[in-house]
Amino acid sequence: MENGLKNKYYLGIQVNLSEIHVSERILSRLNHLTNNLGDCYLEENCPLPNTMEEEREAVELMGNILDLPKDDCWGYVGEGSSLGNLQGMWMGSLLLSDATLVFSESAHYSIYKFAACLKFKKIKIIKSQVNGEMDLHDLYDKIEENEKVVIILTAGTTMTSAYDPVEDCMDILKSKSCEFYFHLDAALGGMIIPFLSQEQFPSKNDFTFRNKDISSMTVSMHKVLGSPMPANIFLARQQVVKDFKNKANSISYFNNMNDITVYGSRDGFRATVICELMKDLDATLMKNRLTANIGKVEKIVFELQCMGVENAFSQQGGLAVVIPLHSFNEVLTEEQQFWLQKKYSLIKSSTVVHIYIMDHVSDSICDELISDFKMLKEQNDYVEVV
Ligand SMILES: *Cc1c(COP(=O)(O)O)cnc(C)c1O
Repeated sequence: MENGLKNKYYLGIQVNLSEIHVSERILSRLNHLTNNLGDCYLEENCPLPNTMEEEREAVELMGNILDLPKDDCWGYVGEGSSLGNLQGMWMGSLLLSDATLVFSESAHYSIYKFAACLKFKKIKIIKSQVNGEMDLHDLYDKIEENEKVVIILTAGTTMTSAYDPVEDCMDILKSKSCEFYFHLDAALGGMIIPFLSQEQFPSKNDFTFRNKDISSMTVSMHKVLGSPMPANIFLARQQVVKDFKNKANSISYFNNMNDITVYGSRDGFRATVICELMKDLDATLMKNRLTANIGKVEKIVFELQCMGVENAFSQQGGLAVVIPLHSFNEVLTEEQQFWLQKKYSLIKSSTVVHIYIMDHVSDSICDELISDFKMLKEQNDYVEVV
């Protein structure tokens, strides 16, 4: 099958597979190397042909969307939020030496991976609720008075599209007089929340730089936005970056380090493409699309519940339909599950199966999914009666 046709059945992962058009002018950039080696805010230090001016523009456009004023904005275009998390964790670990790393069970696996690489001496993994949000009681129980903490919270978890209760988590850290560095993993939600109204998402300001507690953030560009290659924008406050540089330079083997990114060579073409997409981004269009997709999610949840999959759920501001595995197992046989998973490229974790509704998933595909589900379930109902 042609890719475009096949793509419309990809409902397993939170990426937007809609077709996008990259202009000839931009494509011709591939005729020569552009390498954004190092800090794009120190363009004069880059010894190679680069696209750092466009990169800064992309970063500042994202900053603007997330309430980070231009004069307080630092960041770069990277190759995905996994390394965006690494950047935030590295900055936190250096700024707060001997801090405990804190994140929830539902955090992205990149955080587990880099926790080990960065040699955090203490790691506390907080339980999450069934819906994927951090469990506040467990956070309260596990954090000690005056503990130094690097905390990673998530805006849009991978499996359930959940938003950690940022304000409550901060209140707990403050009530225990903790010094902390807070990195927000907004791989998914960073491109959702800014476009939703206060009514659609009442706590939206907790998830942008309006929230003074946030030091850094990563947002993926291939997820909601749908860039043609994996990409993220990492954002941090200028003051945080300044402190980080001072700290890094005080360590002898980092002495006078100008490049404070986790990368060496960085793709300049990617930055060009991301800059174009950011310049073309239309907030009203985004809001309409997201509202439509959230509507599709809610409709599927409703239909599943009517069919007897009572525990199916979605989250406020979430793009995932989530079915706990015990319900999935109750309703469909193993063979039927396999068929459905294969047709729609669905993904199971140890506790749930999810269906992601991104821009490329049309109403008619949603209807097809619902009727497939009905058809499979009726087959079973029939077998049971016989
Ligand atoms: C996808 C995702 C990541 C990783 O992002 P990549 O861009 O795929 O590297 C990190 N965190 C969350 C919550 C994600 O959903």
